[in-house]
Formats: sequence, C-alpha cells, structure tokens
Amino acid sequence: MENDILNVLISEEELAKKVQEIGAQISKDYEGKNLMMVSVLKGSVVFMADLMRAVTVPAEIDFMSVSSYGSGAKTSGVVKIIKDLDIELAGRDLLIVEDILDSGLTLSYIKKILLERGPRSIKICTLLDKPERRKADIFADYSGFEVPDEFVVGYGLDFAEKYRNLPYIGVLKPSVYEK
Ligand code: 5GP
Ligand code: MG
Ligand code: MG
Repeated sequence: MENDILNVLISEEELAKKVQEIGAQISKDYEGKNLMMVSVLKGSVVFMADLMRAVTVPAEIDFMSVSSYGSGAKTSGVVKIIKDLDIELAGRDLLIVEDILDSGLTLSYIKKILLERGPRSIKICTLLDKPERRKADIFADYSGFEVPDEFVVGYGLDFAEKYRNLPYIGVLKPSVYEK
C-alpha cells in the first residue's frame, strides 16, 4: 500500500495538531448551542472520529451516505440518499463534517436538503479544501488544509475503496490510475 504513494502531503502529526485546533474552535463557537455533527460516509469517518473527541462541548453525532444520481459522465451534483440521518434536525445546530471539498456540488446539494428540515443553523467543516476546483457557490466555515489539484488518499479518503486506512494524507502514484 505504501509503495503506491508518491509523497506524504500531510503527516499524522500535522493532522493531529490541526484536528485539535479545529476542535478547540468548534468548542468555543458552539458553547451553549445544540451541536449535531453529521459525517458524510465514508471518506470523513476518520476525521469525524478524531474531531468529535477534540470537541469539548456536548455533541450528538449522526451519519449519512449519498451517491450520485444517474450514469452520465458529468456529475450534476444531484445525489440520492442511501442512508439518511436518524436524528431530527429541528432546533439543532448542524455541523456537516466532510473529508474534502472539491467541486462542492455534492455538499451544496446535501446542504439544501438538510436546510429544508429546519435546523437552527448549518455550518460546514472540511478537512481538505481544493478551492481551484470549485463549481458550486459553497465554502467551508472550518477548513483544515488547502490542497493542490492532485488526487489524495489516506485518513479516510480512498481510491477504488482502498487506502482509507493510511494514517496520513498522500498523493497517489500515477501508475496506480494507469493500471
Ligand atoms: P464534490 O465536492 O466534487 O462534489 O465531491 C467531493 C467528493 O469527491 C469527496 O467527498 C471525495 O469523495 C471525492 N474527492 C474529491 N477529490 C478527491 C481526492 O483528491 N481524493 C479522494 N480520495 N477523493 C476525492
Ligand atoms: Mg466526502
Ligand atoms: Mg471516494
């Protein structure tokens, strides 16, 4: 697995430090609120697991899973909910936890759906941000690292469902795609 990695972009230590910083900021901002952290499966599970333990205010957690609609080559950003949330959103201060904000199409659709359920607030927390590739009018309220337009894996992020269990964020060797 390690042999498929071109270079380590963000080390385990850097990830741990950043998660603590974001957790401290969230704890400050959500003092006295009704925080509910929602992780979009599967890419954000590792970040979610670390981040929730860096948050010191009471928080509920929930998970949802989505997939892109249709078989067209171009993603429309319209998604189908594969697994919906279990918890009602009314009155809750929702924090969507994502692995990476790329075109932003998926997340802007999810945000729209969830807004209709009447949460008190919605914010977005993403570990990685690729602002160069943004298509949708969406930004992260909390963002860990800006990354260049390269395909990254590890710390939850996959290529063909592999590499999620790498403890760091790395760039995949082009030879892996070309296989
Ligand atoms: P978008 O913002 O384009 O709607 O979709 C974001 C999703 O695309 C992410 O949640 C992730 O699953 C996937 N994605 C985008 N860029 C990368 C990347 O560099 N590496 C990996 N592993 N997934 C990516
Ligand atoms: Mg994701
Ligand atoms: Mg993926």
